[in-house]
Amino acid sequence: MKGQRLLIGATIIDGRGGPPRLDEAVLLDGHKISGVGRRDLLGRTAPDADILDLSGLYLTPGFINVHEHVFNKRQKGTAADYARANPDIQKFLGIRNAISSLSEGITTIRDAGSMGYLGVDIRDAFKGDIFVGPRIQAVSQGLTVTGGYVHQLFLEVDSIVEVRKAVGAMIKRNVDWVKCMASIEWSRAEGEPISAVNMSMEIMREAFAIAHHHGKRCMVHAVCNESIENALNAGVDTIEHGVMLDEPTAERMARAGVWLVPTLSSFREKCNDWGRGPGPMRHGALMRPYHDKSVRAAHSLGVKMAYGSDNFGNLVDEMRGLYELGLSLSECLVLATRNGAELLNIADRVGTIEEGKLADLVVLGSNPLSAPEAFSDIRFVFRDGRRINPTDLPI
Ligand SMILES: [Zn+2]
Repeated sequence: MKGQRLLIGATIIDGRGGPPRLDEAVLLDGHKISGVGRRDLLGRTAPDADILDLSGLYLTPGFINVHEHVFNKRQKGTAADYARANPDIQKFLGIRNAISSLSEGITTIRDAGSMGYLGVDIRDAFKGDIFVGPRIQAVSQGLTVTGGYVHQLFLEVDSIVEVRKAVGAMIKRNVDWVKCMASIEWSRAEGEPISAVNMSMEIMREAFAIAHHHGKRCMVHAVCNESIENALNAGVDTIEHGVMLDEPTAERMARAGVWLVPTLSSFREKCNDWGRGPGPMRHGALMRPYHDKSVRAAHSLGVKMAYGSDNFGNLVDEMRGLYELGLSLSECLVLATRNGAELLNIADRVGTIEEGKLADLVVLGSNPLSAPEAFSDIRFVFRDGRRINPTDLPI
């Protein structure tokens, strides 16, 4: 990564929502972007730079996935199946899955909950350059209640004392985020509610107060509107899924600056067979009209949104889904780049193509402002200035 490289010829879509820029170049100096501008002017400041000709290609910031689960990404099964898996093997799978994100143009991930401290450990392995992978922020296990949502995998807390001990232990292991399961979904039989409250506002408020006190941030799994309201009352930073978010609550989120990560593509994908039986497939279909309405409301009311795949989704399907619900492809691209960086509080370093930022970049073969499918036409990726060819990755 030593030395300067001048990327020329590409159409630059810088992640800030403005028009694409032709006839401009990007100068990389080691792991940083040291200039963006007219090729002749930049070329003069760096006469010895290696030239990389990207004519006919498109240059965007690295994509940011703020809701991933590296330990079981696109792995068939139920929470109980995952809980029975060998944790050492799951760690290897997690490393492979995280590395595979680079081949999808994803240079930063938030791991939204895993077995034990698997996500945190993989984060540190990448930080320590043991493997080349995406930048990671991690939750450890989510917090649920005894017998509650994803209790097979997550920590069960039922009192203020228990939640204090659980969050304190996470702080000691340096998690980036604390996550609570605010709602529960069963999908067992006809006539059951689609979603209901799982964890009380009081317990979440305690978890978030401790986390914020230590400079950590807080997220919730929340499907029914009541669970979203509880999480907002408890002081949450990001709402995950928000499937049944109604308009008054969306207005409240917009006013408070609380993020929504819809993970639309994962919920749509749940209508297909992921080895979970017919219940979850039926449940996926039941939730879809609510989810579509919620995303439309969030978009029209100005709720900040970012891209999350969850277990089963992917970037192209998410972009297509959001586009079908009224977002422009330019808004979709900002959502998957700058917005993700803002949600993770790292917008000073990544998320846009600007001088001084880290060189997390994607080179696409087709125009992402023309069709959502272009988001998967990855030619190569820069992670922190290191050029990565998807076909060279050990996945
Ligand atoms: Zn999730």
